[in-house]
Order: sequence, then structure tokens, then C-alpha cells
Amino acid sequence: MSQIPERVLVQAHLAAKQVAPLTTAEEADYKARIRSALLARDAVLVAHYYTDPVLQALAEETGGCVSDSLEMARFGKEHPASTLVVAGVRFMGETSKILSPEKQVLMPTLEATCSLDIGCPIEEFSAFCDQHPDRTVVVYANTSAAVKARADWVVTSSCALEIVGHLMDKGEKIIWAPDQHLGNYIQRETGADMLLWEGSCIVHEEFKAKALLDLKAVYPDAAILVHPESPMSVVELADVVGSTSQLIKATQTLPNPTFIVATDRGIFYKMQQGAPGKLLIEAPTAGSGATCRSCAHCPWMAMNTLPALLQSLEQGTNEILVPEHLVPQAVKPLERMLEFTRQARLNAVGNA
Ligand code: SF4
Repeated sequence: MSQIPERVLVQAHLAAKQVAPLTTAEEADYKARIRSALLARDAVLVAHYYTDPVLQALAEETGGCVSDSLEMARFGKEHPASTLVVAGVRFMGETSKILSPEKQVLMPTLEATCSLDIGCPIEEFSAFCDQHPDRTVVVYANTSAAVKARADWVVTSSCALEIVGHLMDKGEKIIWAPDQHLGNYIQRETGADMLLWEGSCIVHEEFKAKALLDLKAVYPDAAILVHPESPMSVVELADVVGSTSQLIKATQTLPNPTFIVATDRGIFYKMQQGAPGKLLIEAPTAGSGATCRSCAHCPWMAMNTLPALLQSLEQGTNEILVPEHLVPQAVKPLERMLEFTRQARLNAVGNA
């Protein structure tokens, strides 16, 4: 099955489950009950930038965290709460569980997956690795626990360039999986010898270069911000290419009054918070001309809702469990990534 029909299926599933939007009073009631349930369960809410802004705000208001997958992993591991409630997609909950096996990890839904994870089944990936035993295996965080357990390194988009550059400096040849667009970008930037798995993100893959150029013509003062899971033709038009955190920072540091953003629009919540007054526009995903017809929102991230979150917290449902035999191997490349980025931060502070 190709990935676009997969997306259509997910959207049909979401539509079938669609309930009327919450009224203001209902939303306030859910939020109050979630606050109480977090306290009762000694839980903390960890939300990704692509989730509903209501969940992001609730995470911030209750002492949790809103971040990219690297910081979600770090925060969950270091926080003293005995339960982590992860609003995001399944690999994020699994990563939290692998790093904190003693904690209970809940998610609003276990159905929220990721096209990169789906597109990299362990049997095929393992056979691919076996064909190239001389290569270091680097996988993106958007993978199953089994794929992580097969890897030497796990990376996120915020540290992939540095880690691959580091491996290249040591003369290592690399297998990269699963996102081919991010792999292409890193290969171009570092010059590393990389063999790429051909996965892709169904959200970022839809951004269109021609329509982006047309939109830029309408907003000549805009800076174009692009997540590197996008196709190279879109990356080449970017003023800034970076991870979600790096793109949020760009809206605060660049002087442009307007930003055209090629990533999931859930990120606008944090961008607006950090750069109020700036105009944010979704990069176009289809069509010609300057009309944005973007649907740039991950259908799986959209499965995280207030009612689902409350149900999980109150009933302890949707608990993430990782097969025990995978944990000792899967934790190694994750710990390696966290240690590498910790050292990189210390070095940056030392050099400042
Ligand atoms: S936005 Fe793309 S990479 Fe992120 S969870 Fe959704 S499908 Fe996966």
C-alpha cells in the first residue's frame, strides 16, 4: 500500500470518529479534570509541537513540556513524575518507555503512528543492514523499538547533522533510515557516505516547490522556513532549514515580518508565543498559483484530544509497553544520542 492511500484511510478513520468541537465550557471542564488527574496519578504531560495547541498550552500550564522529540525524550527521562503522559505519536511514547522503564507511560491513543515508522518494518530493515555489515546504522527517532534495537545510533532532526558529521570524521560509512529526504539533506550538507532507506513523511512530502515560489512572490519580505523531511526542491528554496526547535528560534531571531513555514502547522502555537506580531503562513502543499491549499497537519498527531487524554489518565488506558527483550539494545543508541547532545551543549557553553 502506498503512503498516500494510508493517509486517506487515517483521515477517514478520524472523520468517522469526529465528534462536535468542544464548547468553551466543555473544554474548561476537560482541562480542570485533566489537571486533577495529573496530580492524582503523579503524572506529567509531555506534548509535541505538532499536537493541538490546547494540549500544548495545558502541558505548559501544568509543569510539563512542549518540545521536539529529542527534548521530549530528555524531559521525560529526567522528570521525577512516576507517570509520563505523552501527547504525540507512538514512537515518542516508546522512546519514553525505553529511557524510563520504571515509569508508567500513557498516551491519549495508541493508534497514532507515523508513516516513517510504518515504512520501516524490522524484518526488511534488518535484512538490509545485514547486507551492509561494514556500515554504521543510524536511524531517525521516528522508528519502532525493534528498529532502534537494530541501530548503532538514534538521531532526531535537531542533532542528525552533528552526529553524522561526527561519524564521517571518524571515517564511518552509514546506513540511514527511514526518511530519505532528511537523509538526502544530511548527505548534501556533510558529504558523508550514506546508504538511504526510502521512507518519507506524508506531511512534509506534500510541500510543493513551484507553489512555494508563487507564494513567496506574493510575500517578498517573508523568510521561508523548511523542515528537512521536505523534498530537496523545497529545501533548496529555504532561508532556514532546521528541526522544529530550530525553526521556532528562527522566527524569533530573523528580522522578517512574515514567515512561510513548511512543517506541520501545530508549530504555529509556539512560534506565535515566541514571536508575537509576526505573520505566519503555511507553505502550500498542492495546486498552482499563490493559493495555499495546504493540509499540512499530521493526521496521527490530530488523534490526540482532550477527551482521549482524560480517559487515558483516569482509567490508565493506552499504556505503552515495550517488549522487555528489546529494551537493553534499544536504549543504547538512544543514550548515545542524549550523551552526544549533552556534550555538544557543554562544549557550546564552554566556547561561548
Ligand atoms: S508529521 Fe510526519 S514524521 Fe511527524 S509523526 Fe506525522 S507522519 Fe510522522
